[in-house]
This record gives sequence, structure tokens and C-alpha cells, in this order.
Amino acid sequence: MKILVINAGSSSLKYQLIDMTTESVLAKGLCERIGIDGHLKHSPLVGGKPVFDEDLPLPTHSEAIAAVIEKLTSAEYGVVASMKEIDAVGHRVVHGGEKFASSVLVNDDVMAAIEECIPFAPLHNPANITGINACRKVMGDVPMVAVFDTSFHQTMPGKAFMYAVPYEYYQNDGIRRYGFHGTSHRYVSSRCAELMGKPIEELKIVSCHMGNGSSIAAIDGGKCVDTSMGFTPLVGLPMGTRCGDLDAGVIQFLMNKYGYSIDEMLNILNKKSGVLGVSGVSSDFRDLDNAAAEGNERAQLALDMFHYWVAKVTGSYVAAMNGVDAIVFTAGVGENSKSSRAAISEYFGYLGVTIDPVANSKRGEDIMISTPDSKVKVFVIPTNEELVIARDTRDIVG
Ligand code: AMP
Repeated sequence: MKILVINAGSSSLKYQLIDMTTESVLAKGLCERIGIDGHLKHSPLVGGKPVFDEDLPLPTHSEAIAAVIEKLTSAEYGVVASMKEIDAVGHRVVHGGEKFASSVLVNDDVMAAIEECIPFAPLHNPANITGINACRKVMGDVPMVAVFDTSFHQTMPGKAFMYAVPYEYYQNDGIRRYGFHGTSHRYVSSRCAELMGKPIEELKIVSCHMGNGSSIAAIDGGKCVDTSMGFTPLVGLPMGTRCGDLDAGVIQFLMNKYGYSIDEMLNILNKKSGVLGVSGVSSDFRDLDNAAAEGNERAQLALDMFHYWVAKVTGSYVAAMNGVDAIVFTAGVGENSKSSRAAISEYFGYLGVTIDPVANSKRGEDIMISTPDSKVKVFVIPTNEELVIARDTRDIVG
């Protein structure tokens, strides 16, 4: 079975074609500047075919999908003979609200329900819907599955997902913690259980997804019981450019003082805050590491804040679960930055965590970086959201 995985943004579309017999990626690529002019980078990973990396007109997502199918099936760049070899399509959808606690086969009712979630993710869900509609138009009755970033977190109990505001806002408006990065937390926690050789039902895991956007999830017996992102992906940890947790009073104070509109204020909190805002250097942790090494105190402060927050939230989840068996680091920073992993792990002495510096220096593979006698195991597990989407699609389409 071959499955096309699609992650559609407002002007971009990422894809992978995965052969489920071996779970290997046959080709991957990215359409950019959809609706502006258009560019496609298509990389076949089998058969020694060349990479296509050129501008081409992509007025809408439909032309983008058509271009992807054309490349996947072409004599020069293709990895399958025709579209008939693509058995199903798995779509990443950011917000499933409370309607979707798991992935689903796309039909008209599902599309209507995803549309109802647009107010919760006004930038992302419309793009995801456009991607699904474009695929349905170009690919006809090839079955499609929607996989939601939020669904893994639907197991959180009320005490974890409720905000302490008047209950009507939850009842009438759906105001609550939803959480994001669910597909990543699900993948790394289940892989962690495999690496530990234990059923996930017997494990308490804290999963730290640390990338440009960052979130932590507490996973007890395979079920998410708490997570750091909330109603939107703005809160929790300080991130590349997002502020993380913030007293709402700060928003009122700054808006009054500087006359910002709410859109201007949220733009500052989403795009100019986080480690970028504190350091004044960059949102990229590599730049921060370099600047800090050269003595830039604000870059060091931004790094210290990030490490402190990861440790603080992890500690609160250890308390929430009454223990922890494993802590997992994943995503851009988690997978690549040995200095951040080491700095965060320094806080875990009280848990009996000891890190093996040699293991912590390795990159690009699933690896236990704690010493064999460490009471709590610490892993680096490269995330693979596309594989989760493909597996769900296979399971649902059968
Ligand atoms: P992601 O959002 O998961 O793609 O992660 C992207 C982020 O990972 C970048 O913005 C960098 O901050 C970080 N990153 C990638 N490579 C490294 C590295 N070698 N060292 C530190 N941070 C890195």
C-alpha cells in the first residue's frame, strides 16, 4: 500500500509518498508560494531519479496537487507508474476541537466538522481544508484520512483542560486547553515504549517537543493527561518567537500604553517574542548558542529561560503523574542540541537522572542518553509525524 501524506499551509504544501510495506519514503517535496507565483521542490528517494527544483505557476492548491501527482508519476522524476498506485491520502489537520479524538475517513460530514473548528485555528484549518478539497478534486475517489494535531490530547481530564473562567465560556464557546503537536507526542511516546521493551500502558512518559514551536506532554499509560500548549499554540514554554505563558494583564498594560490593536499585540506575542524577543539575536537555537559562547548575556538568558521552563513544566508533570519512567526529547532543538539537552537534564538530579555525555553527543538516531543506572531513562527520538499520519491512514482505509 502506498500512501501520500499531505501537510497543506496557506501558501505551501509539503508531501511524502510512503510505501507502507517497508514504511520507507519513496519521494518527498514542498510546493511554495502557492497563489503568489509558485515553486516546487520534488525529491525522489528511490530509483536514482533527479531532484526537480524549479519555479512553476501554482495559482491554487489544485494546481499544486496536480503538479505533485505529475512529478510522482513522470518518467523523469517519478517513483510510481500512475496515480492508481496511490492507495490513499493522509492529511494533517491542525484543529479537530472536541469533535475528533482520533483520525477519521474524510467525507462531507467530516469536512463540515473541520470547518466548524475554523474559529479555533483561523490560519491553519482553512489551509488544511483547501488542501483536502484540492486533493479530492484532482484525485477523485482515492480515500482520504484526516489526522489532527489536537486529537491525542483529547484524553486529558477536565481538571487539566479547563481554564478557571466562567463555565459558560467552555460550554458555549469551547474555551479550553486543546494542545498541539499531538501526532509528534504520540509517535515519540510509543517509540519510547518500544525502545524500553515495555507496554506503553505501564509507562509514565514526559515528551518534550522542542522546535521552533515547543510543547510538553504528560503521557500516562499511553494517554495524554496534560500538555503545555492551550487554546492556541501561543502558550506554555517560551518558543522561537512565541511568548509562552504570560499574565493577561501585560497585554492590557501594553495595549493601553502603546495604543496597539489586539492584532498588533498578538503579532508581537506570536512573532517577536520568545527567545528571539528576549535575546534580540535570533529565534534559532544555533545562533543563540553561538552568541552566548561569544558572551552575549541576553542570548544566554533566553537559553536559560527556555531550559528552566522545560525543566519546570516537566517537573509539574512528574508531580501530576506521581512519577515518571522516561523523558523524551524530540524536534529540531530536542534532536540536535546536545547543550540544551544537557542543560535541561541538569535539573533532573532529584529524579536520579544521569546523562551519558558520549550518548548525548550522537545525532540522528533513536538513542538513550541516560546512563544504564539512571533511575529515569532519557531518550532522544527523532519525531516522524508523516509516518503516524500514514499509519493511521492505512489502518482506517484498511
Ligand atoms: P523544528 O521546528 O522542529 O523544525 O525545529 C527548528 C529549530 O531547531 C530551529 O529553529 C533551531 O532553533 C533548532 N535546531 C536545529 N538544528 C539545531 C542544532 N544543531 N542545534 C541547536 N538547535 C538546532
